[in-house]
Amino acid sequence: MNIEKYDEIRASLPAGVRLVAVSKFKPAEDIATLYQHGQRVFGENHAQEMKAKHEILPQDIEWHFIGHLQTNKIKYIAPYVSLIHSIDSFDLLKEVNKHAVKNNRVIPCLLQFHIADEETKFGFTQEECMAMLDNPSFGELQNIKIHGVMGMATFTDDKVQVRREFHHLHQIFEDLKTHYFPQNPDFKEISMGMTEDYPIAIEEGSTLIRIGSAIFGPRDYTI
Ligand SMILES: *Cc1c(COP(=O)(O)O)cnc(C)c1O
Repeated sequence: MNIEKYDEIRASLPAGVRLVAVSKFKPAEDIATLYQHGQRVFGENHAQEMKAKHEILPQDIEWHFIGHLQTNKIKYIAPYVSLIHSIDSFDLLKEVNKHAVKNNRVIPCLLQFHIADEETKFGFTQEECMAMLDNPSFGELQNIKIHGVMGMATFTDDKVQVRREFHHLHQIFEDLKTHYFPQNPDFKEISMGMTEDYPIAIEEGSTLIRIGSAIFGPRDYTI
């Protein structure tokens, strides 16, 4: 773990940009260390892993779910999750709403957009998303609240391309704000930027950067 790098990133954040410390695949001890250092917002991408960590770590941690969420896993996070970054279909949003009703709470969500030119990244196109927002049954979902948008840029060294993709996400955010959420102060988040590209994301208007390996070191996916 690199506390110096963490401090450096925190110190460099402009007002209005928050840091999500992405702790996926990392032990609870690492989260506890960063918690003692003042970090309260942590991101995970597996529901059961997040549940296990939530159970043993301080209760004032804000848990953000950042990965592809299967509907049969919502139950592991619905009682306590602070923000789901990765809503990528209407069906998923409806299911999250059902679980929020069961838990008697409102769950804040971001709409994930496919901005990269890679097949493998999840997310709405702007057309798909607008079809959902125009659907009358969207308005019936009383236990979710849309706080903004999320996206991942293409994994490339081409900084011009990365900047263009983040710029595109910012444009989608402004379009949706104008047409669907004009009077809604909660619709304010643009979640973009990871270890390799967060400085560009901040320049393009990010409000939530999601940083894993720069803080916690490389992940071991074999464990
Ligand atoms: C893993 C992950 C991150 C963090 O990636 P790093 O490159 O380690 O900073 C951010 N966002 C999502 C959606 C992720 O899955």
